[in-house]
Amino acid sequence: MIQRTLVLFKPDALDRGIVGEIITRFERIGANIVGLKLLVSEKDTASQHYTDDITKRRGEHVRNLLIEMLTSGPIVAMVVEGVEIVEIVRKMIGATEPRQAAPGTIRGDYAHVSYGHADEKGIAVFNLIHASATPEEAATEISVWFKPEELVSRESSYTKFTIKK
Ligand code: ADP
Repeated sequence: MIQRTLVLFKPDALDRGIVGEIITRFERIGANIVGLKLLVSEKDTASQHYTDDITKRRGEHVRNLLIEMLTSGPIVAMVVEGVEIVEIVRKMIGATEPRQAAPGTIRGDYAHVSYGHADEKGIAVFNLIHASATPEEAATEISVWFKPEELVSRESSYTKFTIKK
């Protein structure tokens, strides 16, 4: 039940200076940060992250835009751990298109742009943050961005207290 998921703060989140504020949201739900780093991504790493799956779902053009966007400036990569955390973090970030993301979600609270706007400008839709969609995707994505020794083990408030049966 305890899972790890990958979160990326894309260059637009760093440009906006809201990384700390968003990290607070993950800490606030009691999830544990077990990996965190600031980096400028190589093209190769971004291509390993945005795989053929994106091409199938969104087309080659969008994949190329995403790789260009992700490598355009500093990003923050983070691994978050918690109970059923993959699903929870996806709920917290909200819909892919900020225009449709519900208020209260990260994309809904901090962004507002649309696919139409991105198309018109010939850019990827700026939605601040990426999070793995499934536990399997999380395992693959964590290994793209982190070496095992870069991740820590932490005692968690959600596992600390057990009731004797
Ligand atoms: P999510 O990030 O919500 O899991 P996807 O994996 O489908 O969404 O897409 C990856 C990223 O590609 C999105 O976060 C967004 O930045 C960008 N994107 C998706 N579709 C489009 C599109 N039609 N035009 C521009 N950018 C897009």
